[in-house]
Amino acid sequence: MVMSIFELSGRKELPPPRIEEINLRSPRFTLSGRLTEFCTAAPYDRAGHTYGKALRDVLRAIYRQFDNPPDYVAYPVTEQDIRDLMDFCVSRSIALVPYGGGSSVVGGVEPPASDHYQGSISCDMRRFDKILSVNPVARTARIQAGIYGPALEAGLKQYGLTLRHYPQSFEFSTLGGWIATRAGGHFATLYTHIDEFVEALRILSPGGLLETRELPGTGDGPDANRLIIGSEGIFGIITEAVMRLQTIPTLRASASVSFKNEKGAMEAVRLISQSGLYPANCRLISPLESFSMGIGDGSHAVLLLGFESHDHPQETKLRRALEICRAHAGIWDETDALASQTGQGVQADAGRTWKTNFLRAPYMRDVLARSGIITETFETAITWDRLDDFHARVQAGTRAALTAVCGNGLLMWRFTHVYPDGPVIYYTVVAPGRRGAEIDQWDAIKKAASDAIIAGGGTITHHHAVGRVHRPWYEKSQPALMGQIMRRIKQTVDPHWILNPEVLMAPGKK
Ligand SMILES: Cc1cc2nc3c(=O)[nH]c(=O)nc-3n(C[C@H](O)[C@H](O)[C@H](O)COP(=O)(O)OP(=O)(O)OC[C@H]3O[C@@H](n4cnc5c(N)ncnc54)[C@H](O)[C@@H]3O)c2cc1C
Repeated sequence: MVMSIFELSGRKELPPPRIEEINLRSPRFTLSGRLTEFCTAAPYDRAGHTYGKALRDVLRAIYRQFDNPPDYVAYPVTEQDIRDLMDFCVSRSIALVPYGGGSSVVGGVEPPASDHYQGSISCDMRRFDKILSVNPVARTARIQAGIYGPALEAGLKQYGLTLRHYPQSFEFSTLGGWIATRAGGHFATLYTHIDEFVEALRILSPGGLLETRELPGTGDGPDANRLIIGSEGIFGIITEAVMRLQTIPTLRASASVSFKNEKGAMEAVRLISQSGLYPANCRLISPLESFSMGIGDGSHAVLLLGFESHDHPQETKLRRALEICRAHAGIWDETDALASQTGQGVQADAGRTWKTNFLRAPYMRDVLARSGIITETFETAITWDRLDDFHARVQAGTRAALTAVCGNGLLMWRFTHVYPDGPVIYYTVVAPGRRGAEIDQWDAIKKAASDAIIAGGGTITHHHAVGRVHRPWYEKSQPALMGQIMRRIKQTVDPHWILNPEVLMAPGKK
């Protein structure tokens, strides 16, 4: 459909790269000692660890641009392996890039571009993939950081437990990556980020081991966990985490509500977010995006509402949320809403369709990129009182750039998470690219959108992280003293600045 909208139906899809077509620079140094046991310079591994999964990463791969691969990829099995790697990197001035699933969309897993380093090693954590212990009384589990989403959930299921953290990249991302990036998952309210589920952490850095204690809460000074959560691999490598779990929910109530008037829909969502009902799902989807996801005809915004519990029925909560929607001219299918309350985990129909298309979207993005369609997302958060002006400014800035660089294009939005004081707005861009120029085109659109976000007082990221891509806007919007504090911490845990250089902060600014 997208190809016909942009009248590109005849355009040929470029094939994905094959490893034989890629010429990689030879490794710039040789390994020594035990490192040869768990590191490889195989082209497939090095090419596969050159980029994350943003559109600009996919495009660089499609255009066979692999100018700066890691010299080696390490697959450590033990913490001693990681310590040896760090010692080697410090002694040889080699950059060490922690790698989870590589689903970063902000340039978080790329080797540094700077020639300050003698080379780089990507440290892939996939062999740290075990659930080490489960504590059913405290409802927590000690889990290794390299485990992928599906293996994590499968392992917990046998205990009747779940983490219920489902980023859209669930299948190809890891627990350590979620914690390092402060990922946003399943819950639209209350437990929006992975942060809330982290009870304790174990982190290795060149400065030593940092291990926090298993406590339900503590008031003893600044929170060491929160210092590490979101540090994107620059303060250390997370090897284990003790995670707070949920009992698998069996009682659900959900509905999808249509609103002719977008403003009315936003107001209803504001009131729900401030009602104390705390729905697990509260996603408001713009008319255009609802249409593209197959849950609307493009004339209405759609609110997907869902409540869940393993303990008590959710119907009363849903009813109250629906009353709020009714007061703002929301309409819904009563049969559908009733069917969702059977206790069998049935979801409202639109919710089911949306979930299926939501999980397919990443695969579609890569296929469209091969046909030269620019399709990418960006996200932010703002307080309710500033929402109207902010949303208008971001859309105007992005649309102007779309027209200037692509001639036309579509801009869709949805609220992915909502707080009592404001929503998270997630924008999706779809536009016709010019063959060979798509990266520059996207960079121009992204710059316009990011400038508008910061000028409007929003955050450069709510859950996609900072990485390299967002760093200029992050630096602009952070308090200067915060930057100095971060550099002091970096100096303590990583005095030679070998860990993930260029991510979150510029190297050398000590
Ligand atoms: C299609 C798609 C959908 C996405 N949807 C979401 C979403 O819904 N919510 C969301 O929050 N994000 C989303 N993302 C972004 C991405 O999936 C998240 O940032 C995710 O948390 C990254 O996990 P990962 O294991 O792939 O980490 P990686 O991409 O490998 O690494 C991310 C960062 O964490 C560091 N890191 C990784 N593992 C460790 C470790 N063990 N110790 C220290 N540092 C480490 C890396 O150095 C890097 O800086 C999406 C990405 C894609 C491509």
